[in-house]
Amino acid sequence: MNHLLKMLVLFGFFNSSCQGQPAYKIENKMDKNEFSVQKSEKEWKKELTNEQYIVLREKGTERPHTGKYNLFFEKGVYHCAGCGQKLFSSDSKFKSSCGWPSFDSEIEAGKIKYVVDQSFGMVRTEIVCANCGGHLGHVFEDGPTETGLRYCVNSISVDFREDEE
Ligand SMILES: [Zn+2]
Repeated sequence: MNHLLKMLVLFGFFNSSCQGQPAYKIENKMDKNEFSVQKSEKEWKKELTNEQYIVLREKGTERPHTGKYNLFFEKGVYHCAGCGQKLFSSDSKFKSSCGWPSFDSEIEAGKIKYVVDQSFGMVRTEIVCANCGGHLGHVFEDGPTETGLRYCVNSISVDFREDEE
């Protein structure tokens, strides 16, 4: 009991000391030319399925509780469905009631770009693949784990592959 209390106090302290200093840099605007993978929209349309195109290239959102990885907890790595870059490890995935696959960190710093999104009258942080610019979802600072982050990701944006480490 004492130990648990101590943990809670430490956890609370950790959280409050980190507030306002996210571990990532949020860009005001996405510059399409900065990505390594450069393809015309015509090429993307040809390579991706209709659903993938709408989410990855047009920033669509799949309906909650419908994505194939929402309640999926196999061990492995989630890659970008647009370019194949590794984005998330299954180790960072947690059960969330929000209806979309949720992770508490990217697999490695620099794999994801963070951009201000002011659509729909909200201020959110959009997450995109740092390699091809594909839209993945949003990150929120209400995660239940020690990172305090919840990467809310469309299943359609990612491609799961079994452990390959
Ligand atoms: Zn990508």
